[in-house]
Amino acid sequence: MSDLTFKTATELSTLLASGALSSVDIANACLDRAEATEPSVAAFNSLDKAHVLAQANASDKRRKDGKALGPLDGVPVALKDVIAEKNQPLTASSKMLANFVSPYDAHVTGLLKGQGAVLTGRCNLDEFAMGSSTENSGFAPSKNPWDTACVPGGSSGGSAACVAAGQVPISLGSDTGGSIRQPAAFCGVVGVKPTYGLVSRYGLIAFASSLDQIGPFARTVEDSALLLDAIMGHDNRDSTSLKVEPPKCLEAVKTSAGKKFRVGVPKEYFIDGLDPEIMTAVRGAIDWYAAQGCEIVEVSLPTTELAVPVYYILAPAEASSNLSRYDGIRYGHRAKEFKDAIDLYFQSRAEGFGPEVKRRIILGTYALSSGYYDAFYLKAQKVRTLIRKDFENAFAQCDFLLTPTTPSPAFKFGEKTEDPLSMYLNDIFTINVNLAGLPGLSLPCGLSSSGLPLGMQLIGPAFGEGTLLAAAHQYEQAHDWVKLHPSL
Ligand code: GLN
Repeated sequence: MSDLTFKTATELSTLLASGALSSVDIANACLDRAEATEPSVAAFNSLDKAHVLAQANASDKRRKDGKALGPLDGVPVALKDVIAEKNQPLTASSKMLANFVSPYDAHVTGLLKGQGAVLTGRCNLDEFAMGSSTENSGFAPSKNPWDTACVPGGSSGGSAACVAAGQVPISLGSDTGGSIRQPAAFCGVVGVKPTYGLVSRYGLIAFASSLDQIGPFARTVEDSALLLDAIMGHDNRDSTSLKVEPPKCLEAVKTSAGKKFRVGVPKEYFIDGLDPEIMTAVRGAIDWYAAQGCEIVEVSLPTTELAVPVYYILAPAEASSNLSRYDGIRYGHRAKEFKDAIDLYFQSRAEGFGPEVKRRIILGTYALSSGYYDAFYLKAQKVRTLIRKDFENAFAQCDFLLTPTTPSPAFKFGEKTEDPLSMYLNDIFTINVNLAGLPGLSLPCGLSSSGLPLGMQLIGPAFGEGTLLAAAHQYEQAHDWVKLHPSL
């Protein structure tokens, strides 16, 4: 292992700025680490060495000419394989797009390129971001670097695993119902799902458009703030992109010392069935905030238990519409044998999509079909409004909510694949945040007796990223979790 492995993006940026290190040094360290650990982790769908080194060389040249583009110039960032990068594979870990190469950059990709970041590989996921373990990947699952018999979480499992394994300092994922926070918790890293509309979805392969948001993975809160600042901002190519001044995340982290918060503890998140070690770790964090002089407020979010049923109406409904474009005609997989045009659609979709994607399309089509629309889709939309109101009431009493991220630590491969419902229930603490469009952050808060990371979640009001990052940074500074790495 090189001494650059596990350096943070902030540390690497400082070393680059001082001239102590070149971007090519960093890129080589990342590529070597990936070569050594990918056989056991499998975080990447593709990692184009020549492309990585060409970007690093270009960054070094800019620095030499005194034209560095900012703190991320020369720093490696990995992208989930649903975020378009021009002339790179864009597969969504689906056979449907196995040979697809993106003709353009996503908005976030353009922003990162404009800041000189070195785009380092395409991260594996559950097919079309549907899942909680990467076991639904159309290629092969990624492994949890802390215990390769366990899943890294999902759907952004590859993006979490590569950061946890020290292959890259930071990465981007997407979160529709927990897909950044859940794998962050399973892999012992920080993951942030921003307020809906703060990060453009242009060039993000759509799963459920009213829920999807791109966000950062990092090994420290500060690094996640650095990356978040780099990707937020209005984009007129995404009609849901907000015209607001984005929160100043890094500044919030740097000015967090001594700030006191009102910490809300929702009773519905500390339930029977919650893993006792997670319960203890999160309770310990609540006590820690109390000891710092924060006010602890018990709050109630009565609609919590409705999150999973509402999500599994709305997300599949949107997915069924979004995925109708994969018809074998325009792009993506096309069946070789078919009788007529309709059969071409059938065969191409039957061959290209995996079982979970098909399940979602069927569920969503059913929920939207005439006669069922009012009973399911419309009702779910109404409950979604109630969920949002619950959060509004809670945030009248506190600055952020502190909860577990997941009901259990990382589970073993195969443990939940036979029972989709038990897989869906893994997201009970994260889904509501997407339904309400709020920011959420997962942060390491302990290790289980079997050595697996435990995560806690901070949920904020809309645009509350600064508060979440400041509070998370305070906790991180006072604990040693951030210093622990898997022994790969
Ligand atoms: N696990 C959830 C699902 O399968 C959430 C996925 C996500 O956030 N992309 O839908």
